[in-house]
Amino acid sequence: MKQFHIISLFPEMIQNFFQEGVVARASKKELISLEVTNPRDFTHDIHNTVDDKPFGGGDGMVLKPEPITESITSAKQGKANPYVIYLSPQGNLWNDQRAKSLAKDNRDLVLICGRYAGLDQRVIDAHVDEEISIGDYVLSGGELGACVLIDSIARQIPGVLGHNSSAEEDSFKDGLLEGPQYTRPKEFEGQLVPEVLLNGDHKKIAEIRRAFKIIFTYRKRPDLFKASDLTKEDYEHALAQVRTHLGVHSALFTDK
Ligand code: SAM
Repeated sequence: MKQFHIISLFPEMIQNFFQEGVVARASKKELISLEVTNPRDFTHDIHNTVDDKPFGGGDGMVLKPEPITESITSAKQGKANPYVIYLSPQGNLWNDQRAKSLAKDNRDLVLICGRYAGLDQRVIDAHVDEEISIGDYVLSGGELGACVLIDSIARQIPGVLGHNSSAEEDSFKDGLLEGPQYTRPKEFEGQLVPEVLLNGDHKKIAEIRRAFKIIFTYRKRPDLFKASDLTKEDYEHALAQVRTHLGVHSALFTDK
């Protein structure tokens, strides 16, 4: 079972997130375990102080090193191979590949959520294995980042998504985006579901799905398309394939 241990001054933010959906189910099935520690429980003064003014002056307050370090020590207890991550806008950018590799390896994760102006650098230097950012913007705290990591890792742990859906078909798994999805009714506001998806010919459906992926990636994420081993000819071939099956079904498949 993969263990996640989150260190946060706002445990309820995290606990609420754990109560629904994929992460809650994974926890009920005991495929993951989730614990939260509040650094305020590791303060030793009457005011339960967790932050202080920055040395050298400047805006905001800095999280004091002692409560965070004691929280980390406590979180690591009972974990065979803990890996300590600090959620930080300065960290390595998070992506699906990292989620997949952390889902696969046997390390338990200790996730530190910063607040205010952030952590005292000495804690990062001495106790953090990696800083991870969920994007080039600044959030008010690391809690959203911790939830992003846990969700994207958990859904890649075998058994978490159940039989009917697999993370393997999601976007990014083979470096491409997933194609379009349709459900009933067959006609909605005058738009038809592509006929080829309705006829039960699995070989053709697989071919057309691959063509859709190529088209979506080329159109929506040229950077991913460029990084793949696909060429402009592959895209044009995919477009021709889709047109044969669909007629020109929607604006997404017209020439650009
Ligand atoms: N002063 C810091 C800086 O400029 O690098 C930002 C501190 S931010 C207001 C407070 C906390 O939010 C950070 O310590 C971190 O834990 C979290 N945080 C903010 N942006 C984040 C991001 N893009 N990814 C992950 N965590 C983030």
